Amino acid sequence: MPEAAAPMEEYAVSEACIACDACCNDFPDIFKMNGDHTRAIAYAQAPKGKIDPWDAIYICPVDAISLIKGDLPPPPEGKKKASGHKEEAVLDPSLITDHRPWEIRWAEASRRDGESQWERMKRYGQAFELEETLDKFLFRFALPAKVPEHRFKYKWNLPDKMPDYKFDVQLTNEGKTLKVKGWLEDDRVRKLCGVANSFPDRFLCEFPLSQPAKEIQQNYNAQDKVLDIIVAKS
Ligand code: SF4
Repeated sequence: MPEAAAPMEEYAVSEACIACDACCNDFPDIFKMNGDHTRAIAYAQAPKGKIDPWDAIYICPVDAISLIKGDLPPPPEGKKKASGHKEEAVLDPSLITDHRPWEIRWAEASRRDGESQWERMKRYGQAFELEETLDKFLFRFALPAKVPEHRFKYKWNLPDKMPDYKFDVQLTNEGKTLKVKGWLEDDRVRKLCGVANSFPDRFLCEFPLSQPAKEIQQNYNAQDKVLDIIVAKS
């Protein structure tokens, strides 16, 4: 005899949804965002036993998910709401000043305006100004100041302020080229490289000089994350 198909379970999302993406990411076969990304919808039913309904209910930080078809078992022992979110290991709790669930912090952040082109250029070593005098080139580089926005920034409790980049500055090609290398050493934030858009963990830029140079001086202002490089002409 053919086996009877498993009964189906169906969920609903209420207007309380804050579009944090958590249910869509953890249960993509059941939830997805609506067209303008303002609210999740439960677009598909799931066969009973495929997931524990409490996992779907507890993932939501604002109690917007409910089971509307199927039997809800008693809440499992040992699983608790824990303010409604699954917390990843806090990498450095002292850096986090907002202790609300990460889904709420991310939902707020995702509604703000996107980052500036200038901030993105910093991560490629392209946010600089150059002034030339009779005997010098004066480069002023703006280094990345802010960890780019991504849901994992909040899920992993990463800081908003970018840790300092390391850098290496050299004259090459017989003084005709300035080479500037920058890289991010902080392992916590580097986890986001390759996950967030336009976020490589290093840059290498070469700047041809209109006159050969003989020496460089550099000064890094950690407060403003600005690197000044003075290149003396030969
Ligand atoms: S987890 Fe809750 S708040 Fe977040 S998208 Fe899903 S329904 Fe909305």
